[in-house]
Amino acid sequence: MAGTVHFESRGRIAVITVDHAPVNALGRDVRAGLVEAIERFESDAAEIAVIHGAGRLFIGGADISEFGKPPQEPSLPDVVNRIEACTKPVVAAIHGAALGGGLEVALGAHYRVVVPGASLGLPETKLGVIPGAGGTQRAPRLAGVEATLDMVTTGTPVSAARAVEMGLADKLGQGEALEAGLAYAEELLAQGAGPRPVRAMDAPAHDAALFEAGRSALQKKLRGEVAPLAALDAVEATTKLSFDEGLAEERRQFMKMMETPQRAGLIHAFFIERKVAKLPEIEGVAPRGFSQIGVIGGGTMGAGIATASLLRGLSVTLAERDDDAAARARATIEKNLAAAVKRGKLSEDKRDAILSDALSCVTGYDALSGADVIIEAVFESMDVKKEVFRELDRVAKPGAVLATNTSYLDIDEIAQATSRPADVIGLHFFSPAHVMKLLEVVVAKETAPEVTATAFALGKKLGKVSVRAGVCDGFIGNRILAHYRAAADAMILDGASPYQIDRALREFGFPMGPYQVGDLAGLDIGYMTRQRKADQRHEKDRYPGWADTLYEMGRLGQKTGRGYYIYDEESPRGRPDPEVEEIIAREREKQGVTPRDFTDAEIVERYMAAMVNESARVVEEGIAQRPLDVDVTLLYGYGFPRHRGGPMHHADSEGLATIRDRIRRYAEEDDHFWKVAPLLDRLANENSTFASLNG
Ligand code: NAD
Repeated sequence: MAGTVHFESRGRIAVITVDHAPVNALGRDVRAGLVEAIERFESDAAEIAVIHGAGRLFIGGADISEFGKPPQEPSLPDVVNRIEACTKPVVAAIHGAALGGGLEVALGAHYRVVVPGASLGLPETKLGVIPGAGGTQRAPRLAGVEATLDMVTTGTPVSAARAVEMGLADKLGQGEALEAGLAYAEELLAQGAGPRPVRAMDAPAHDAALFEAGRSALQKKLRGEVAPLAALDAVEATTKLSFDEGLAEERRQFMKMMETPQRAGLIHAFFIERKVAKLPEIEGVAPRGFSQIGVIGGGTMGAGIATASLLRGLSVTLAERDDDAAARARATIEKNLAAAVKRGKLSEDKRDAILSDALSCVTGYDALSGADVIIEAVFESMDVKKEVFRELDRVAKPGAVLATNTSYLDIDEIAQATSRPADVIGLHFFSPAHVMKLLEVVVAKETAPEVTATAFALGKKLGKVSVRAGVCDGFIGNRILAHYRAAADAMILDGASPYQIDRALREFGFPMGPYQVGDLAGLDIGYMTRQRKADQRHEKDRYPGWADTLYEMGRLGQKTGRGYYIYDEESPRGRPDPEVEEIIAREREKQGVTPRDFTDAEIVERYMAAMVNESARVVEEGIAQRPLDVDVTLLYGYGFPRHRGGPMHHADSEGLATIRDRIRRYAEEDDHFWKVAPLLDRLANENSTFASLNG
């Protein structure tokens, strides 16, 4: 027998152990081993078998490294069917996790016992496919349609207790999974229980209205993602067809999903998220310890950063300018923590302990002298930041990491305000900082490797996805954003409406269009940025004069009830405003532009071309070390649709020559903005991809 699955006969009970570290993934050997073990059990004297997993979980799922390769026998559906067809009863004893194919194996067994701490789920749609070994057919027979739909369309696993409650498992056992499995097997033997294949159970009745409602809710939510809808179709099949026909339909949907570019995009996203923190410069470098975090400034960002730290068990001292501001910061943090309690992320006791022991909001910097990492989040002004860092240099203990949350400013220059530039680094959080997953770790010229390592360790502690960035105006994300926003503004000037642009990009998969984002963040931010960069303006830059007009009219976005959109009771999420169209029309006239029509497709192409072109420059200059760093940044901080994998992956799938040629065409109208990035040109000429640079 393959060494990955063991069979042991213990009198009346046979024990089948899946033993394939680290996660008992269902590679070929495990699949073959399971079939062999069942065959051996059938010819053995034992009367009941218990399948369990060695190590920390039952079975983690399919072997992802086999994805996209020619299938090898036996297939997982065959394995599950074989277990189910066993002539003697089979029990699955689940601890840790039974995910995807792992849960499908358990559903092939005749009985299931789970122990506390286990999670059971069918997360396939998160990788762009659907369960392919009967999960969509068997789960509804045990748990009903609604609970199954929830599990397969969201991909979110359920707890052991919930699995029993919904009928997915029969019993909540105690102790080790094997112990619980053996105890349950004894019980079943005593009852004289026989095999109980799920396929023989009644399917839930077909409820067309339920599926229609589910389908339309998903369509609204998914923005073009297809796998959850295919999973829903497969579940519906089980309520309309025979079991075997339903299985065939599931298989058909599964194969269809395997062929979609979305699957490739989601798998790319999955892998790069794991690769992004692997950096040669910090390999083997020990991070400094940290438990005390100092935060300077308790506005939007400072309060969010403090909340994120407190939620992860760190102590925070927050310094503000005066008592009122310190009290406001404390109130914001209390509000954030209350929301966490409400969402069930934090117990009331813990919240109370945090507020009495772990947080202090103070004035003056002396209280920061004990902090291991100090994160500055004061106003975005070089003079203010330098002043803060001079003070920090005075009070911070030796070895403290001094970080800035600046969005754009030159961190090398900030570091020079201290006598210890090696300890200075950028930690660029995104708003709201306790919610958004992205953290740009901006490594300055003199930053020491162990300071970078500490930043990554802190990011991990805070549950963030950290990306290494270099110093430039806007680092990775905001620099690329500035460029594609400029492309969008140029389209407005040339005749597109902001509402059409927003709609086209939502259709592409962004949760919001750029002008909705502008309204949310506040149009004053863009205005300040234009002011800050006024002296760098080139005479050929296309200037969004209407945006200055909106600012001057006090139309700052959601916070003033008006920006590009009108926000009121009638339309809390905003509705287009003809007055904005008039303001834009006047600006076109002023600039002597004759407006033209854009198709939605052209809008997306230009927006993406600008994004990809600037991304290529960011990689070429070493601001991002690899294309995958850009993809992670845009996915986690800028709402880039995950099923498209990130801008670099998207560009690869469109073909780099196609994008390069588009840019050349746009350059015929505007050769100032549209210049092909040399890296894009080179890769296009070589018929290569950005992925080839990911290592
Ligand atoms: P904010 O205006 O909401 O908060 C700044 C806070 O700093 C204020 O409460 C102010 O009282 C305090 N402050 C100013 N000078 C101080 C000093 N010398 N000592 C102590 N406290 C002082 O600003 P914000 O939006 O939180 O932005 C803070 C920083 O974070 C900026 O550098 C900004 O560019 C950056 N940032 C902002 C966002 C965002 O979306 N708002 C996102 C990422 C980064």
